[in-house]
Amino acid sequence: MGWEEEKEQVLEACRRIAAAGLVAGAAGNVSRRVEGPDGVPLVAITPSQIPYHRLTAGEILVIDFKGDPVEHEGVPSSETLMHLAVYRARADVGAVIHTHSIYASALAVAGLEIPPLIEEQVVLLGGCVPVAEYAIAGGQELADSACAALGEGSAALLRNHGVLGVGDDLEEAASVCELVERLAQIHVLALGLGRVTTLPDHVVEVEKEMFRTRRGRRP
Ligand SMILES: [Zn+2]
Repeated sequence: MGWEEEKEQVLEACRRIAAAGLVAGAAGNVSRRVEGPDGVPLVAITPSQIPYHRLTAGEILVIDFKGDPVEHEGVPSSETLMHLAVYRARADVGAVIHTHSIYASALAVAGLEIPPLIEEQVVLLGGCVPVAEYAIAGGQELADSACAALGEGSAALLRNHGVLGVGDDLEEAASVCELVERLAQIHVLALGLGRVTTLPDHVVEVEKEMFRTRRGRRP
């Protein structure tokens, strides 16, 4: 058994998103990049169908980029294709989290993106949180539509499904998912008040530049 520390980090992120109410039961999934022998790129990812309250670090799977476990038997997350697609598309991403948080899912059902509402949104997420085109859960089509919506940003809503959040590491990916849910609550409430004003364009441009500079940290 290897990658103990990395698996503990995945478990910790699971506990964090479960405690924040972003997932329930065994829904959602968490992964991070890990390095195999000779620098082979691998991914530590949550297993399929094991509820968070029972999950142990030993059950976190390390898989290759074909999706096959490299260490011990087990079935990786049903959204493994989506996680791998993000890592292939984005060399700067070190961790991926998918949640089913309620308000964000409500906007995903309504097909409503989250426009730039508050400053930390643009700095952390890159601006608007777009909605990916619908595709059935677990398939390559969803992996592709999620990546297309994500673009160079840090989060996307998955139509009629949930949230995709990414970051340099698990801490950041979890913060992204928490912020998306908070933004979704703000957006739903503002829509209910009948008036949504977005950040001024010049502020969004300055903060997008801060976002790009920050994301440029990784090779
Ligand atoms: Zn899902």
